[in-house]
Amino acid sequence: MSTESKLREKMALHGHSLFERGYGCGSSGNISARIDDGFLITPTNSCMGRLDPARIAKLDHNGNHLSGDPPSKEAFLHLAMYGERTRETSIVHLHSTYSVAVSCLAGLNTDDVLPPITAYYVMRVGRLPLVPYYAPGDGQLAEAVRKLASKSRAMLLANHGPVIAGKNLDGAVYAAEELEETAKLYLLLNGRDTSFLTAEHVRDLHARFPS
Ligand code: ZN
Repeated sequence: MSTESKLREKMALHGHSLFERGYGCGSSGNISARIDDGFLITPTNSCMGRLDPARIAKLDHNGNHLSGDPPSKEAFLHLAMYGERTRETSIVHLHSTYSVAVSCLAGLNTDDVLPPITAYYVMRVGRLPLVPYYAPGDGQLAEAVRKLASKSRAMLLANHGPVIAGKNLDGAVYAAEELEETAKLYLLLNGRDTSFLTAEHVRDLHARFPS
C-alpha cells in the first residue's frame, strides 16, 4: 500500500474514532494532511464517522481540487494554517461541544484562552489564541487564522471551534482530543477555587519537552 493510501486509511480511522466518541456530529469537523504533491482533506458534507478513504479530496499545493469528492468548505482554514506552519503535516478542525462552549464565553483572554490546567495540555496544545468571529466563507477568517498561525499551532475560532496542527496525523488528533478534554475540565472547574500550573511549571515543561 502506498504512503498516501495508508494516510487515507488512517484519516478514515481517526475520523471514525472522533465521531464515535462525540467529537463531531452530522458533517461537522474536518481532517487534513500534507502530502508530497499537495494535501488530503475530508470532503464537503461528509460525516467524519463514515469516511471512504478513496473519496477523500486531494488538493494541489495551491488548494485546487485534483481528485476525490469536493473538499470541505473549510479547506481554506487548513491552507491558511499550512502556509505558516511548515513543520506541521496534519490539521484537525472540530465543532466539539466543550471547546465551542468555551469559545462563546465573554471576557476570555484572547491571547491564550485556557489556563495551564495539566502538563499534557501544555505539551500537546500550548498557547491557544482566540480568532474573532467571522461568518463561514468570510475571507477575513482565513486572514485572521494566517496571522495567528505564525505564532501558534492551535487556535480557537470564536463561536465556532478549534483548529490545531500536529507534526503528524496522530499528533494533530491527540492534540485536538487533549484540547476538548481540557475545555471540559475548564468548564467543570469554572467558579471553583483552582490551582493551575504556575508560570514556572510551564517554563519547566517547555524546557523538558520542546515542541
Ligand atoms: Zn468549522
